[in-house]
Amino acid sequence: MVLRYVFWDQLSNSLASLQNIADGDVVLLCELEEDATRVAHHQKKLVFLWSAMRHFANQLSTKGYQVVYVELDDPQNTQTLDTEIKRHLKQYNLDKVIVTHPSEYHQLQSVNSWPNDFGVTVECLEDDRYLCSMQAFQVWAGDRQHLRMEYFYREMRKQHEVLMSFGKPEGGKWNYDSENRKPPKSGLDIPKPYVSAKDPIVEIVKKVVQLHFDHHFGDIEPFYFAVTREQALAVLDQFISERLANFGTYQDAMIQGEPWMYHSHISFYLNCGLLSPLECVTRAEEAYYQHQAPLNAVEGFIRQVIGWREFIRGIYWLKMPEYSRLNFLNATRQLPTFFWDGATEMNCLHQVVTETKENAYAHHIQRLMVVGNFALIAGLDPKEVNEWFWIVYADAYQWVELPNVTGMALFADGGVLGSKPYASSGQYINKMSDYCKECRYKVSVKEGEDACPFNYLYWDFLLRNEKQLGSNQRLGFMYGMIKKMTPEKIQSIQKDAKQFLKSLK
Ligand code: FAD
Ligand code: SF4
Repeated sequence: MVLRYVFWDQLSNSLASLQNIADGDVVLLCELEEDATRVAHHQKKLVFLWSAMRHFANQLSTKGYQVVYVELDDPQNTQTLDTEIKRHLKQYNLDKVIVTHPSEYHQLQSVNSWPNDFGVTVECLEDDRYLCSMQAFQVWAGDRQHLRMEYFYREMRKQHEVLMSFGKPEGGKWNYDSENRKPPKSGLDIPKPYVSAKDPIVEIVKKVVQLHFDHHFGDIEPFYFAVTREQALAVLDQFISERLANFGTYQDAMIQGEPWMYHSHISFYLNCGLLSPLECVTRAEEAYYQHQAPLNAVEGFIRQVIGWREFIRGIYWLKMPEYSRLNFLNATRQLPTFFWDGATEMNCLHQVVTETKENAYAHHIQRLMVVGNFALIAGLDPKEVNEWFWIVYADAYQWVELPNVTGMALFADGGVLGSKPYASSGQYINKMSDYCKECRYKVSVKEGEDACPFNYLYWDFLLRNEKQLGSNQRLGFMYGMIKKMTPEKIQSIQKDAKQFLKSLK
């Protein structure tokens, strides 16, 4: 008889380790303090994941499986993965464990220790919910020094026959980004996001989280996340019918008071298993062929799911554990306190941190070009920035936040994932949002007290990191501009930057 452990992000009926269950097998799910505090997760995220787990366990029980669900407050709960495995092996007299490959490296280390520590056989099955296996990614990566998502994405489109027409990309091009990424315009009628019905399980879990973790970052209320597969499917339906058509065009736009824009909000559900990537992609593809959404929107969305998401996971498993220690630019500055309370006069950062606290969500450009960009050009320590991103978003697991933060946002991997740092002055934020209109700083001013800090920090960042970045061809134009600056100009940039960075608490 077998112990089948289901991790908190493996809530899928199709999970490999939930197939061919025999009479007497025990399916184990645990709410663990260790999970809640590995990093001090956002309170809403804990309510979301444990509510979804409780629903999922109930559904498995209804199917007739022998499910053991350990609640956080169970007096017998030993609160760590290893000790709970040991306790249940003994209690049910089992000598074999089956798991689906965990999503995070530290979990795999635990799984690998069980044969020695507990004298049991452990079978770790491939997680076939991803479209690209770790082995296939390894083969694709080969000995390439730089891994570029665009080429990987094309392979995925071909392999899975997504948006293909007679062996060629639909519409003749692989990528329609040139039609996407328009600035916001006034008068957009953005649909309201999904709001789940009040749920008794969620109400109980809220109390548990309030009791034990109310010192963690984030608001529990309002709570509107889906916590069952049926509800997650309703989120997907709503996205396809109400938002997808505008997804591409406004993918990068940011509007004050509109955190959800035309994004799909499915990462919470994809990452914990309530939705599968292929079903989301198929729904979007159907919308295109049924003329419900244009190609630029559908291709853009599909690229995120089968391109970026799979690519990011591939990099994580290819490069761990070294990847978690990388700091190519030797950035060491502490995370400022406004990352936790939003108390900054920089309106863009104030808006994003405040929305993150309320929703456990920010969309990609808010994460990359507001928070990530600031962290990059202010030289914040990658370890602290990674921890923040892992804590604050309800879709965050190390496998997905780490490559996005270390690779995409901070260039701390020296270019494994991207060809140049996503650094920018305030101009980009001004173009893509309406944040600057209500800011105490002036985005058009480059020097002095009223200047937008992104403006001088951007140049100071390039100056500070010339040794590491000066030979990057994609930054050649910017370093050319620095060469033309007068010494007085450079001094003024460095003085403003120094003063600002010193003022950070
Ligand atoms: P949409 O914009 O609607 O995109 C659709 C789907 O594509 C997403 O649900 C997601 O599954 C996938 N996707 C898009 N971009 C990425 C990407 N770069 N990496 C992985 N999947 C992607 N995503 C997470 O799921 N968890 C994280 O912890 C996370 N941390 C991030 C940190 C930084 C610094 C950055 C720049 C990005 C991060 N992302 C993360 C990627 C992306 O921002 C989120 O997936 C997206 O904002 C989720 O919102 P959505 O579902 O509305 O996405
Ligand atoms: Fe952000 Fe600068 Fe715009 Fe203020 S002026 S919102 S700090 S980009």
